[in-house]
Amino acid sequence: ARIGQVILDNLREIPDFPEPGVLFRDITPLLANGEAFGKLIDELAEHYRGKIDAVAGLESRGFILAAPLAVKLGLGMITIRKAGKLPGPVIGVDYELEYGTARMEVRPEAIHEGQRVLIIDDVLATGGTAAAAVELVRALGAEVAGVTVLLELAGLNGRDRLPGLLVESGVTF
Ligand code: 5GP
Repeated sequence: ARIGQVILDNLREIPDFPEPGVLFRDITPLLANGEAFGKLIDELAEHYRGKIDAVAGLESRGFILAAPLAVKLGLGMITIRKAGKLPGPVIGVDYELEYGTARMEVRPEAIHEGQRVLIIDDVLATGGTAAAAVELVRALGAEVAGVTVLLELAGLNGRDRLPGLLVESGVTF
């Protein structure tokens, strides 16, 4: 899509970050380009307008995308955070990382039963983070309207952990 090119044109790839063997995709050049960032948010807003009731951003780069999108659509933004960041009460979901485990948390009052929630993040890799977010949204009786990311690392099969869900990405590697 058109927006895929905007993302690609404003992407930086850093080998061996944060550890040897990892090719890190950095979206901060896109954020620093006001025209490109604006285009991205406009496009997402047109795409999801009328189809969702709230936007959930995944800490931390998902927040940067979720907030302007929510404001543009006149919706609330939900912060799904790493363990220990949100003051209680929270509900949490643990998930497996390549080495060890992680946990995502949300404030139960932030999500209402029956809401259609869009989950957004910068990158879909193994899908563990997004799958944990899906579990949290569903645990609160809401519906996941979709998972959207700027970049999908298809080789890691993140989609397989999001069965039956609409998963949309600007660029697939
Ligand atoms: P997953 O749980 O799908 O394996 O990993 C996704 C999470 O890791 C996302 O929150 C994403 O921000 C981060 N992540 C993994 N790889 C990259 C990368 O190459 N670039 C960026 N910006 N984030 C990444």
